[in-house]
Amino acid sequence: MKRIIIFAFALLLLGCKGNSQEKEKAVSKTEEKERSFPLEKTDAEWRASLTDMEYYVLRKAGTENAGSSELLNNKEKGTYVCAACGTALFRSEHKFDSGSGWPSFDREIENAIAYDVDYKIGYKRTEELCANCGGHLGHVFEDGPRETTGLRHCVNGAALDFVPDGK
Ligand code: FE
Repeated sequence: MKRIIIFAFALLLLGCKGNSQEKEKAVSKTEEKERSFPLEKTDAEWRASLTDMEYYVLRKAGTENAGSSELLNNKEKGTYVCAACGTALFRSEHKFDSGSGWPSFDREIENAIAYDVDYKIGYKRTEELCANCGGHLGHVFEDGPRETTGLRHCVNGAALDFVPDGK
């Protein structure tokens, strides 16, 4: 009996995995077909112009390890720009400590971000991309500070460069 239960559970797990991969494929196919951005480069050009970590996050929608970004505890006044194309994305006054291990903001700079939906970890999440180059930045969740926007833009520090005010 125990064996049957384990076998059924294994089947169930495999089923879930297959399902989420299909969804992932479907989403990335749509992206390839429909999405275009003002700044387009070939994969080889992106590879040449970004560090390995920037390329992994921005072009392959990777996620840096929690707590790994130098920008996580940055409290200086300034603008967070796209590490790939320099577009201004977030302001320091909208940054807050979410405790997640990733730089977090309660709002973006208007029109700087494009949104998409991904199913990469099996459930629906709102992905955010640089509206100019299409680089993957992170995700938006609705568990941000209630006293402001209620949103938490959870952004990979590797996708950002910081420009202090006055520079
Ligand atoms: Fe960009």
